[in-house]
Amino acid sequence: MTQSLIYPDPDSLLRLTLRKGQARALMARSTRMAQQAADIHRASDAAAAAMGRLLPACAMLGGLVKEEKGRLTVTVTGDGAGGRMTCGVSGNRLKISVENPQAELPPTPEGRQDVAGFVGRSGRLVVVKDFNAGEPFTSVINLVSGELGEDFAHYFTISEQTPSLVALGCLNEAGTVLSSGGILIQAMPQCQERTLRALELRIPFFANISREIYDRSLKELALDWFSDLEPDVLAEEPLALRCDCSRERMRKALGALGREELEKMLRTGEDARLTCHFCRTERAFGPEELRALLSGEATDGAD
Ligand SMILES: [Zn+2]
Repeated sequence: MTQSLIYPDPDSLLRLTLRKGQARALMARSTRMAQQAADIHRASDAAAAAMGRLLPACAMLGGLVKEEKGRLTVTVTGDGAGGRMTCGVSGNRLKISVENPQAELPPTPEGRQDVAGFVGRSGRLVVVKDFNAGEPFTSVINLVSGELGEDFAHYFTISEQTPSLVALGCLNEAGTVLSSGGILIQAMPQCQERTLRALELRIPFFANISREIYDRSLKELALDWFSDLEPDVLAEEPLALRCDCSRERMRKALGALGREELEKMLRTGEDARLTCHFCRTERAFGPEELRALLSGEATDGAD
């Protein structure tokens, strides 16, 4: 485990409004989560960089639906070396998985991690919002560049019909995440033209967001970047990487495999072992448990 976190602030999500609500902004620091995810998945630097951008994007997306007690699942399926990436958000807890976390790519000519190469330049971004009431709400967009920032900006503009500016960044090397985070700015319907123009002028500040976040607090950055836009910080909430899997949930998943599969497992005489894709926790289920599942105890396990 790497313990070389230089900036002491914990991961968090900052909410603010600008010019009395003409625009709203969310900022996320996700350095610790990105380091934990890199450690859990034994990730290559390219994978860590991709996770270090996807995590803050999903945290901010989750921050928008939070008041509705929603659960969010974001899947990025591109044609890059990393394969499918999935991130789940529930409240302020996130979990993330990557299909090929060890796939490594050389840095780009500019010396950055090759996130687009890892994610893929074509593919899909799927967002599923589940509010525990009725059918989940699903939206799908095509990837724009695979850099993730542009892809999420496209998602907000198309699916949520809100002009949005998104910047995501991760600074990492040799297994160590120095900083990870992002910003999302949305123009509200009453946003005036001059506010929009003022916001567009800020774009160059965000180009290197991982370096900006590296040694400054989110609040300090927000007040600095938006000093002439009447920034009003509403709240700062903690963020954490925490999986919600459990032995019980895994047992149900095992039961859902069906009789044939369970009988096959029993015949091997060995424990059935399942690994969670998100936290890599492995759980073993012995023959007795498999027999109990077969005898129908799991049939009422529809969850
Ligand atoms: Zn798990």
